[in-house]
Amino acid sequence: MRQVNFTSRALLSALLYCVVLSTVKAQVRADPGIPDIPGYRTIKGDFHMHTVFSDGKVWPTTRVEEAWREGLDVIAITDHIEYRPFIKEGDHNIAYDIAKSTADRLGIMLIKGSEITRREMPPGHLNAIFLEDANALEKDDWRDALRAARDQGAFIFWNHPGWSRQQKDTTLWWDEHTWMMENNLMHGIEVVSGLDHAYYPEAHTWAKEKGLTMMGTTDIHNPIGMDYNFALGEKRAMTLIFAKEFTENGLKEALFAGRTIAYYQDNFYGNQEYLEALFKASLQIQEVRKSGNRFSVKVYNPTSIPIKILKAPGNEDKDFFRWLTLSPRATDGFTIVAPEGSNDDFVEVKWIIENYKSGPGESIAVTMRFDAKQ
Ligand SMILES: [Zn+2]
Ligand SMILES: [Zn+2]
Repeated sequence: MRQVNFTSRALLSALLYCVVLSTVKAQVRADPGIPDIPGYRTIKGDFHMHTVFSDGKVWPTTRVEEAWREGLDVIAITDHIEYRPFIKEGDHNIAYDIAKSTADRLGIMLIKGSEITRREMPPGHLNAIFLEDANALEKDDWRDALRAARDQGAFIFWNHPGWSRQQKDTTLWWDEHTWMMENNLMHGIEVVSGLDHAYYPEAHTWAKEKGLTMMGTTDIHNPIGMDYNFALGEKRAMTLIFAKEFTENGLKEALFAGRTIAYYQDNFYGNQEYLEALFKASLQIQEVRKSGNRFSVKVYNPTSIPIKILKAPGNEDKDFFRWLTLSPRATDGFTIVAPEGSNDDFVEVKWIIENYKSGPGESIAVTMRFDAKQ
């Protein structure tokens, strides 16, 4: 009997030991809870990051594990073709090759990419993604490097267009960028770059005017936890892509079609159409009750990002809050008082969604209808 007890205790201890060990080793994926929009899947991507195979400080598999932990669906490792301080020679596809099996195991889509890097502006730095062979981009003339990427069907975007090292005081558009667009050599632009921890208003305007796809990337070089304080609620930059399907082709089609939003910290940067669709998908109406001319509304924010609502002009006949922030993953309630004597079972209000940015200094305006009989 004693022997059995001893064995049980030993087994139990061993089991506890394993549980403790596995708890220590377990990793948690933090999904920001950003919903799909009607007709499209919302894919979360970061298409600009570095490893020791250029001037980054981490091994390629670490980038995949970071992406998994932070809820991304797809990444591209984009080491510099021309600047490799640690490992000076060799195959430019190597970071992709090393990271691929980890990406497959964790279900992260890994896209092959590279950064075409010139010290001067113009042309500055450009990322080419969906490459087949990154070695073909090693060219003396940057124009030839871009052509080599285009010939592989790459999606090419202008990196950190406002980087102070290259654009000293003002973010300028150069003739070379016009030439790139005319020759199908530039398709997108970073509206948000983690390199500067910045939003570039000029890039947002150009993207809308010239039809460039809006990108948000980290351009991360350090282990990501060194640059972002996740414990304090900081969020990494990413691109939200609205794709018909979660495949490499689906992603590529959406990027070339410009169906993206750049996201960073608590702000979304895009155009009115996709921002409005995302906002409406992110606001779940849970309950609308009517009593006389008072509507009591309960809404839920399923994302990890606050929604900052302001009262817009054009609500003069109704009474409700002037501003309201919907906390992440929480239910909130408010009252809308319709005009005296109103018999409708619904009420409409106009809001500005402050952190859904449709241009420099502009936020989206939406009309919301709350139906008491739903
Ligand atoms: Zn760069
Ligand atoms: Zn970079």
